Amino acid sequence: MAGYGLSKSRITAWRQCPKRLWLQIHRRKLLEESDQVKRLYQIGNEVGEIAQRLCPDGILIEDQNNLAAAIVATKSALEVNPNRPLFEATFQHEGLLVRADVLLPTRKGYRMTEVKSSASVKSYHIDDCAVQAWVLKQNNIRLASVELAYIDKSFVYQGDGNYHGLLKAVRLDAEVKELLDQVPLWVSGARTTLAGDEPCIEPGAQCDDPFECPFKAYCMRDMDIPEEPEYPLGVLSGLRESLKHELHELGYHDARHVPVEYLNDKQSMIQRASKTGKPKFDKHAAKQGMAALPYPRYYLDFETVSPAVPRWAGTSPSSPHVPFQWSCHIEYAPGKLRHDMFLDVSGNDPRQECAESLIRVLAKDGPVLVFSSFETARITELAQRFPDLAPALLSINERVVDLLPMARKHYYHPAMKGSWSLKAVLPTIAPDLRYDELEVSNGGEAQHAYSEIIHPETAQDRKRQLTESLHEYCALDTLAMVRLAWFLEGRKTNKGGDYAAQ
Ligand code: SF4
Repeated sequence: MAGYGLSKSRITAWRQCPKRLWLQIHRRKLLEESDQVKRLYQIGNEVGEIAQRLCPDGILIEDQNNLAAAIVATKSALEVNPNRPLFEATFQHEGLLVRADVLLPTRKGYRMTEVKSSASVKSYHIDDCAVQAWVLKQNNIRLASVELAYIDKSFVYQGDGNYHGLLKAVRLDAEVKELLDQVPLWVSGARTTLAGDEPCIEPGAQCDDPFECPFKAYCMRDMDIPEEPEYPLGVLSGLRESLKHELHELGYHDARHVPVEYLNDKQSMIQRASKTGKPKFDKHAAKQGMAALPYPRYYLDFETVSPAVPRWAGTSPSSPHVPFQWSCHIEYAPGKLRHDMFLDVSGNDPRQECAESLIRVLAKDGPVLVFSSFETARITELAQRFPDLAPALLSINERVVDLLPMARKHYYHPAMKGSWSLKAVLPTIAPDLRYDELEVSNGGEAQHAYSEIIHPETAQDRKRQLTESLHEYCALDTLAMVRLAWFLEGRKTNKGGDYAAQ
């Protein structure tokens, strides 16, 4: 049947929702791909490259932008080098095109390995393998086995370029065999969908399973979505999902209307604030807590990166918080601030310099103010990594004062909507400090910026711009903590503060 080219990912899209595939081909401009999805592509590429490095003497089929050429190159490689592994071997059958991540020759035929960057086998992975195996069989490729390789989270990289053990493989011969008869049905179903009009399919559970569909905005544009109350049940911090469900069933959708017997003390406080619109602030207790803190005060925040493929010795996919940046506002006398920062964008292991610079700046007297236990955990990890620096690092941890429990205990504003994150608290105490005007405005974007900076193909101008954005973002995080501390302390003026020369 003449028609649109199909691929493994298009079959997956059709299996998720025929309308998704139809829109992908006929209304592509409507597609809204999230940054998260783009990041997943990038991770997938990194893991694919590792799989190739693990298989020496392999031949990479280039020409991936010219599919006809890739198919010819695959055919030629199979004929000329039947005993060498092939990467991205490209086949098609009746317009369905697939690329096999790794084809390894064995005595009984080829072992086909599909490489995934996830940490477990998902059912759509098996579908992917079946589609590939079916096309290869139609091309008379003798398959000895079909495998899925995925990330072993227990792998610890030694820093020596050796990634053996990062991927663990599972054989899926039986599962794939069971699905082989289904594949031609999927193919003809997808073709029928594409040849017809836009399918009438209402949004539902399929929109997020197995992936978030990039056409949700389009499909949900005319839906009669009931307006969410200003204070939905979600603002009742710590409300169990089962109780939330029960309350919805009972007809309670607004946190202000929930009978008090369902709520604990904190949730009752949130409900009261939501009803009255007035913040709760135990000024006296907050001031007392803060007054006990001497000067200088160090306000500290880390930015970390979590590469799926570990880059540095001692890191693993399951212990991924590698600090590449810290910001510290030092309040050396009330209202007198100095700012210090560390940022390593060389792409080399940033941990030692991060630890040493931290000690240089913080290894003095004075409380180290943080917001959550994240910084303490990172300092402990640095101490484990560098035993000679451990005493100095751990002494920093002994001085840590966490502002988060203090804020939780003494302050709540209804605009925080049940969250004590710094980004929820800040607009209610220091609206002049804004994250939404920054290019990098959260931890995920900071990670992404870092990865882009250290990528060898990123242009110098872009690197400079992103580096500047990281400076601004991390500095704002610690300035926000300064302002929170001043607020809790009840200082009359919350703005500014004097900055000494850097
Ligand atoms: S948003 Fe939902 S209904 Fe629309 S195409 Fe995607 S999966 Fe289908």
